[in-house]
Amino acid sequence: MKYYSTRDRKVEIESAGAIAMGLSREGGLFVPEKLPKIGPEELGRLCGLGYRERAVQIMKLFLEDYSEEELRAFADAAYSSDKFDTDAVAPVVKLGEGRYILELWHGPTSAFKDMALQMLPHLLTAALKKTGEKKKVCILVATSGDTGKAALEGFRDVEGTKILVFYPRDGVSDVQKLQMTSQEGTNVRVAAIEGNFDDAQSGVKEVFSSAELREELAASGWFLSSANSINWGRLLPQIVYYFSAYCDLLNAGEIEEGEKINFSVPTGNFGDILAGFYAMQMGLPVSRLICASNKNDVLTDFFRTGEYNRVRPFYETISPSMDILISSNLERLLSFLSGSGETVAELMDELKSEGRYSVSPELMKKIGSVFSAGSLDDEASKAVIKRVFEEKDYLMDTHTAVAYGVMEKYREESGDKTKTVTLSTASPFKFTPAVLDALGESGDKPGPELISVLSEKTGKPAPRPLAELAGKKARFTASIKKDGLFDEVRDFLK
Ligand SMILES: *Cc1c(COP(=O)(O)O)cnc(C)c1O
Repeated sequence: MKYYSTRDRKVEIESAGAIAMGLSREGGLFVPEKLPKIGPEELGRLCGLGYRERAVQIMKLFLEDYSEEELRAFADAAYSSDKFDTDAVAPVVKLGEGRYILELWHGPTSAFKDMALQMLPHLLTAALKKTGEKKKVCILVATSGDTGKAALEGFRDVEGTKILVFYPRDGVSDVQKLQMTSQEGTNVRVAAIEGNFDDAQSGVKEVFSSAELREELAASGWFLSSANSINWGRLLPQIVYYFSAYCDLLNAGEIEEGEKINFSVPTGNFGDILAGFYAMQMGLPVSRLICASNKNDVLTDFFRTGEYNRVRPFYETISPSMDILISSNLERLLSFLSGSGETVAELMDELKSEGRYSVSPELMKKIGSVFSAGSLDDEASKAVIKRVFEEKDYLMDTHTAVAYGVMEKYREESGDKTKTVTLSTASPFKFTPAVLDALGESGDKPGPELISVLSEKTGKPAPRPLAELAGKKARFTASIKKDGLFDEVRDFLK
């Protein structure tokens, strides 16, 4: 199977090349030339397998230049029992009639980013071998919290790689900060930036686009790559859990063969929900995808009006991993539905120069036949956490609460009774102050100490890596100026 760029269909490349490059030279994202189909019989076979083997069977359809044995070794390592605290890897929990939760946070960093970032290092290091790349790779990450830690865990001590993570000094939660600064491994470094997330991200982009630095690093045997969700190697592993959730519901007798279900997805960069769209196009019986946003509701407006407009206030919310105004992976959806590289390139140019674009009514019709959207502010999300805990004895995090609340609103307003799976993207113990606040407790201690407080209050155990965090010491305490990224990279790779 070939991959082409969303902005130029003449750019054609094998999957290993797409994963090694991350982004196409003209700025487009790599997409598969077609989506393989999984018919009812194949779906039935898939449902007889465990999570790891489901991953192998789905990924191999997209990665023809990887062998099945290779992928099996990757899946066994990525989703092993020392990394995930349940053999189900991504279990489905029933919360009531027609309402289910897909828990994607049983990995080493307690956020759904692990589902992809445990797999990406395997796909990437193999891709470098397949493409004959002799240099070693340094992964650069700008993070608003979850991606940095998940990437550090994924790449720690992976041969032939180093990883350097930049986070905004005052822009991540206490728990997220200590998770990163206490990171173990011989090939890792973490630095705080005296600025906000945008400063970190634009700094990293400048480093990537410097031809001078690229040459300098190449001379000493290094090149830079990214672990952000624009890489195909991060998106692909996410398709797996949509199939897996469907299989689990079928195996549990909750749905019938061929029955269509809905998914509600807490959305930021549009990677997670796009994987659901791809699963649906591959033949998974899905009726609707519900795109849930917090107060940063640029996507809700887009799905309602057809205009994407990022010129608007940016809000810091209690679901920070969804505080995003540019949802990069939307470009892949537009590419699939428009079928035109020129159209996508034009829209993306407009977004860059005007901060907005509108899609055609025909395109909007296609989008509307699959997606619904809604948003929920902080107060409403906290109310969801409290209500679900009191009524169902189920504790959810702030991001999951947005998707659950939007799902409830959608069901009420549309009358759609289709069984719905809400994706749960983080453990509630990652966002302790907000979750405690939702339950009516004050959280006036540092985040890591609140983990045991929340556990006592709710009777729910914290995931082990988080429970052990309170005693940990920070290993990386340096903070650097906004313009100090180049020197930091040089120093790390010298
Ligand atoms: C990254 C993240 C999201 C958003 O996922 P996208 O793929 O960026 O849409 C939602 N919740 C949590 C906890 C996350 O870490």
